[in-house]
Amino acid sequence: MGKILDGKSLANLRAQKLKKEVEILKQDGINPLFCVINIGDDPASKVYVKTKKRRAQEMGIEQKIYQLPSTESEESVLNLIDKLNQDPSVHGIMVQMPTPEQINVNHLLERIDPEKDVDGLTPTNIGHLWQSDHFVEPATAIGIMKLLEHYKINVAGKNVAIIGRSNIVGKPLAALMLEKDASVSVLHSKTKSLSTYTRMADIIIVAAGQENLLTSEMVKKGAVVIDVGINRVEGHLVGDVDFKQVLSKARWITPVPGGVGPLTVELLMEQVVKLTRRAHGIK
Ligand code: NDP
Repeated sequence: MGKILDGKSLANLRAQKLKKEVEILKQDGINPLFCVINIGDDPASKVYVKTKKRRAQEMGIEQKIYQLPSTESEESVLNLIDKLNQDPSVHGIMVQMPTPEQINVNHLLERIDPEKDVDGLTPTNIGHLWQSDHFVEPATAIGIMKLLEHYKINVAGKNVAIIGRSNIVGKPLAALMLEKDASVSVLHSKTKSLSTYTRMADIIIVAAGQENLLTSEMVKKGAVVIDVGINRVEGHLVGDVDFKQVLSKARWITPVPGGVGPLTVELLMEQVVKLTRRAHGIK
């Protein structure tokens, strides 16, 4: 029977430390400020933005949410980003995805000052990531690395299979895993046989957004399974892994909810503080 990788508890543990760090910064007159730009009415995005806002409040981090209509032009969002880039009181900027059709999210990301890029998704910071010379990382990917580190699961020399190749999860995670000497396979919807890779994997990360994508036949006994997926099924949240079946085969497994999700939000908050310290030249 597998053991649970408790992302929620780890997030809470890290949050206690972060809260104290924020208090100390504030005593020195430094107020971390985090800005989220949300364009349109995507219901899931609104939930995520609300969660970030609540978590920032709990940490004592100030935040501003720019809720823009779905008809907003790209130019106008770029102007807002310019304004936030120039404002010295702003330490972190992120654009909530997805963005409406008329807006090319890559144009927005290119415009964010890499020093305020709290999501680690600007081309400059993604480049730094692949060069193993980074100061900010995409939150979900770094959250997964911290979770493994916390449970003393070493990735060096391990076979890692990542299902999903998005810019926000799969690709940055592949970079971080390579940096830690794992052998990485990045799989996607055009992969001919997922199980050929997953059955060889010591660690499997699933970030596809498809419930029950990873079944127990696809998993080697004793593997570590990380479920990033969030799917709403009959009013409940489930991941991409057939949890009940895979639990009996895996050595470690993350639940959904309570696994990767809370760590993503926590790491985002940590990066706001990290960028704040950096902006003020504090090590
Ligand atoms: P994307 O839709 O951007 O990417 C999904 C990836 O999965 C794509 O690379 C796609 O392949 C691949 N994929 C989809 N279906 C299959 C399949 N049947 N077989 C193999 N590969 C498949 O999603 P995101 O990366 O943004 O998010 C993935 C999931 O993780 C979602 O459920 C999302 O809600 C969740 N998520 C959770 C977070 C958390 O904190 N817990 C944070 C971010 C995301 P292809 O490229 O070929 O289309």
